Amino acid sequence: MAPSAELRLESVFRRFGEVRALDGVSLAVESGELLTILGPSGSGKTTLLKVVAGFEKPDGGRVLVDGQDITSLPPAKRDIGMVFQNYALFPHLTVRQNVAFPLEMRNVARPEIDKRVGETLALVELAGYDERLPRQLSGGQQQRVALARAIVFNPRLLLLDEPFGALDRKLRETMQLEVRRLQRRLALTTIFITHDQEEALVLSDRIAVMNKGTIQQIATTTEIYERPASGFVADFVGESNIFYGTAGADGVVTLAGGRTLNVARKVPAGKNVGVLVRPERFSNTAINAFEGEVIEAVYLGSSFKIRLKTADDFAVIVRLPARGKLPAVGGRVSVGIEPDEIHVFDV
Ligand code: ADP
Ligand code: MG
Repeated sequence: MAPSAELRLESVFRRFGEVRALDGVSLAVESGELLTILGPSGSGKTTLLKVVAGFEKPDGGRVLVDGQDITSLPPAKRDIGMVFQNYALFPHLTVRQNVAFPLEMRNVARPEIDKRVGETLALVELAGYDERLPRQLSGGQQQRVALARAIVFNPRLLLLDEPFGALDRKLRETMQLEVRRLQRRLALTTIFITHDQEEALVLSDRIAVMNKGTIQQIATTTEIYERPASGFVADFVGESNIFYGTAGADGVVTLAGGRTLNVARKVPAGKNVGVLVRPERFSNTAINAFEGEVIEAVYLGSSFKIRLKTADDFAVIVRLPARGKLPAVGGRVSVGIEPDEIHVFDV
């Protein structure tokens, strides 16, 4: 099997009238890596995949596979496997015929086709389903067939556009692990698109967070969660408390209304910054205390999720380990945050 390709996008632009679907996207996916592109609906994710696959022509910029410029190569010549959200199986063809299709297009000899289709169906755990029609399969099985069809010809890249969006939660989780297993086993360079942050965290080596046609941050899952580069990333990935303020001397950030926070990161005095506190990072320390009325308290099994309102009008989400009694709504709770649990980002 040919080694998997490295993919590079350089300043890719694509406009539709006034809409900047891709507004200068640059990124690199390494050989054998699974990169997730995470972003809200309309952020340009599908357009990005179409540019890579050759179904959309960029207005500017380049697409390179293993250093070779493929920007004007037609889709059929790109050797890329794709799976879309709405299973695009041929409804009148059997599972075997669907999976054989890309090999027939490439004029592969019949015995080789039979062998590869058999192997690939086994790989996606659909051995024995060869003669079924798509309508005789469940949604999850149909997506396995689509996946088999996308990898049967040993593509250089695999592109998955919200492939499990239509599946229920349980099945989606099974399929996520399945894709991860397959992708690792084949060491296949893969882009996986999703708008679901949990899915992105489960699947990825790295995540690229997209908004309005631009990549906001591209980093490991931990980095994205712990040290988001912007308020958008902090808010989009995970639960968050985000405040804005001005840095003073000696690691103090002054928020609206004059409240101050001690932070670990040194920021030049006078600089406007954003501050992120993840709800589970609060503790019973007296440092950086938020004392307030309980607006909402929910028991979530492993944690209590509490909304507090402070006297100076800060609304704070806190998660505490579920020990003892759930705090009563209307009661008072005080929590704090260690300075090094506060993430400061530039605005
Ligand atoms: P996502 O996949 O993140 O939801 P898309 O890439 O589908 O986003 O779309 C990005 C933006 O480009 C959206 O505003 C969308 O309406 C617009 N867009 C995408 N394709 C077309 C098209 N063929 N014609 C006009 N506008 C388009
Ligand atoms: Mg899309």
